[in-house]
Amino acid sequence: MGTTRIVIVGGGIVGCAIARELSRYQDLDITVLEREAEIGMGVSKANTAIIHAGFDDDPDKAPVKAALCVRGNELWHTLVKVLEIPCVWPGSLVVATDDDQLPTVEALLARAERNNVPGCELWDSDLLRTKEPSLAEGARLALFAPTAGVISPFDAVFALMENARANGARLVTGAEVTAVRFGKENEVDTTTGTFGFDVLINAAGLHADTVSHLAGITDFTIGARKGEYLLFDKALGPLTNHIVFPAPSKMGKGILVTFTAEGHTMIGPNAQDIPDKDDFATTVMGIDEVYNGARKLVPKLYPRGQCIRTFAGVRPEPSTGDFIIKSYNGLPGFINAAGIRSPGLASAPAIAERVASLLLDQGVELNPSADFRPERKAIPRFTEMNAAERDAAIKEDPAYGRVVCRCETVTEAEVVEAIRRGATTIDGVKLRTRAGMGRCQSGFCSFRVLDILARELGVDRTSITKRGSGSRMTIGGTKDLRRGDR
Ligand SMILES: Cc1cc2nc3c(=O)[nH]c(=O)nc-3n(C[C@H](O)[C@H](O)[C@H](O)COP(=O)(O)OP(=O)(O)OC[C@H]3O[C@@H](n4cnc5c(N)ncnc54)[C@H](O)[C@@H]3O)c2cc1C
Repeated sequence: MGTTRIVIVGGGIVGCAIARELSRYQDLDITVLEREAEIGMGVSKANTAIIHAGFDDDPDKAPVKAALCVRGNELWHTLVKVLEIPCVWPGSLVVATDDDQLPTVEALLARAERNNVPGCELWDSDLLRTKEPSLAEGARLALFAPTAGVISPFDAVFALMENARANGARLVTGAEVTAVRFGKENEVDTTTGTFGFDVLINAAGLHADTVSHLAGITDFTIGARKGEYLLFDKALGPLTNHIVFPAPSKMGKGILVTFTAEGHTMIGPNAQDIPDKDDFATTVMGIDEVYNGARKLVPKLYPRGQCIRTFAGVRPEPSTGDFIIKSYNGLPGFINAAGIRSPGLASAPAIAERVASLLLDQGVELNPSADFRPERKAIPRFTEMNAAERDAAIKEDPAYGRVVCRCETVTEAEVVEAIRRGATTIDGVKLRTRAGMGRCQSGFCSFRVLDILARELGVDRTSITKRGSGSRMTIGGTKDLRRGDR
């Protein structure tokens, strides 16, 4: 057998996990096509970042989600170490705050047992008061799941792709898939050119229905459900010891109180079905709903004035109600990894394994490569170094001595390294290094990052964007513009 050309559409957590998983096999030529200027700017950027334990999904109604979340959780426990991805494992609580919710929480324990989620147990109000004193007085009972964690979703996307590339995969950004042709020569047209393929894997997130339709598979659609969040100043620290959920409802897991892998308290999301898949705007009403909802669980929330950012994510809601991870008898050479709503982040490594098994079913040989290197080193963070390490880093590279982002203490050396690893935009640098994620939300550092980007990429400052086309940061020097006005 010769080389098999695999083209993956979409550089989100799912596409990147698939690329990394397949890069362990020999004789696969892997290309990821991403329409944006950077990977990880779709659904994978704005979410709750939880590696769910795996009890939420009913195996009778959504068997794929139910199975893959538990397996994904297990895989992440190893992957975060191997790929050096920031992650904490505090465990989660689903809390009943009134008597009506008691049966729901008890039923979750039964489901956890059915889904083989390890270590779950019910905590009564006395235990809750000791273990999670932040909870509302009325907290009666909770399901505790020790394997739940919080990951940095951006780092996860970049780490998977960096490792896939180190093992031979190719990434093409700014390449929106516009047509798919099957025939003697299978081809996919993009905004940057045409690519031949033997197998096309569709991991296009919110737009996976459009890509699937281009390939001729039209048996599902994907809707959009927005969720808004408030993020609090990191200096305040986490408000809770665990990830705290309310009892779930028909609209989903509800508004929770959690924290990021770096320690910002975060609350949200609400849930609103929307017509426009690219509507990431937050609203006053939505933010009120989130704040008031979170306060029912944890009454002593930080004041709203300590919120440093509001943001929204959009969930891809598949018409089937479950992940669509399928190949098609009548269409060899096409695999859907579509409809990946929550818990898609938690499930991503397991989705990648399932896609690999679908390739085997299609007759693609998967022979492990002796050259596969599973590890990836993170960009060393100056802020996490001790004094001796800082001295040594500055001695080796004086750019470690120049702080670019004061809030998060990110140095020029880290920004340069992010660019070397593929960042081409302000957001690309921000999500790789955290420059701009602190209290001032990039008011101070974004133009310094812009200068470094222009210098390192050897381009004019005016061509640097925040996150790709349509987001230019500058249009020229003020003196030049004034001269032009005259
Ligand atoms: C509010 C909210 C909260 C969530 N919370 C959690 C959670 O706590 N835990 C959890 O496990 N999951 C959570 N999820 C779900 C999780 O974020 C998603 O399941 C996951 O990120 C989906 O990844 P993806 O790679 O499929 O999609 P994406 O990240 O959107 O990646 C798809 C990529 O395809 C690209 N693309 C689209 N069309 C084309 C085209 N035609 N050509 C080329 N490229 C294209 C896009 O630009 C995008 O980069 C949440 C989601 C939301 C919105």
